[in-house]
Amino acid sequence: MELFETVEALRRFVAKEKASNKSIGLVPTMGSLHEGHASLVRRSIEENDVTIVSIFVNPKQFGPNEDFDKYPRTLKEDMELLRKLGATAIFHPDIDGIYVRDDFTEITNTILSEKLCGITRPTHFKGVLKIVAKLFNIAEPTRAYFGMKDFQQYVIIKHMVEDLNFNIELVPCPIVREESGLALSSRNRYLSIEERERALALNKALKAAEELINNGERSAFEVIKVLYSILSETEGLRIDYIKIVDGWTLEDTVQISTNTLIALACYVGNVRLIDNLYIEKVEIL
Ligand code: AMP
Repeated sequence: MELFETVEALRRFVAKEKASNKSIGLVPTMGSLHEGHASLVRRSIEENDVTIVSIFVNPKQFGPNEDFDKYPRTLKEDMELLRKLGATAIFHPDIDGIYVRDDFTEITNTILSEKLCGITRPTHFKGVLKIVAKLFNIAEPTRAYFGMKDFQQYVIIKHMVEDLNFNIELVPCPIVREESGLALSSRNRYLSIEERERALALNKALKAAEELINNGERSAFEVIKVLYSILSETEGLRIDYIKIVDGWTLEDTVQISTNTLIALACYVGNVRLIDNLYIEKVEIL
């Protein structure tokens, strides 16, 4: 496994691999890797000749009062895990190597970035799109792997790829959870033991919603009522949003139908957690 720390070094590697017609899978991450990231890496290894994992805590996607400084950085352990998984290369640039000179060009999706997480994190998706576009241009992947844990991020990147004609196949990957149901996240390590217990309410609420839908409920309002009652009754948990939206436009929907996303964001202590249930298809009743 190779470690590249500059754009030029990665470009040289990519040029060599492309010259021998290798397919390239890219897994963008901020490090502090867990089984959720590992699932993306495994999938990329299965589907591509070469897998590049980027590890970069991107300052542009953190708001002024967010956790950029204290975000966990565990490069040594991450490298160990990636070596075991069989990744081909790691791209771990420093901030100055990625954001050079006058940095005026932005990529924004004003419509989708203002919804869901965009309300509390107004500059977040602009930062995400910029780094992802840069990584796409540097690594020139055949396929890029994103977790559905960050569904809004995936959809916004998918729009960017279509709108700007990136010749890259995006591969959405299912949410990986702990046995308890808690969705894995690098930020879970901020939770105390009691907060971890409280955080289980997110998955519990989504499970209750799923059961209701499986029993035939199609009214978004009725499903939101159940989600709200479970979350609001959990001590020490503060709801940021509960939304049922179309999985492509992220517009609110009144009916649960094909391509519907149920998305939650809650604060447990100071930690903001997100989780979701994506309904790809429903039986028409
Ligand atoms: P991050 O390092 O948090 O930026 O995440 C890097 C990638 O891993 C993103 O595409 C995330 O959606 C994905 N990811 C994070 N947590 C999970 C999880 N629990 N299950 C699946 N994918 C995940």
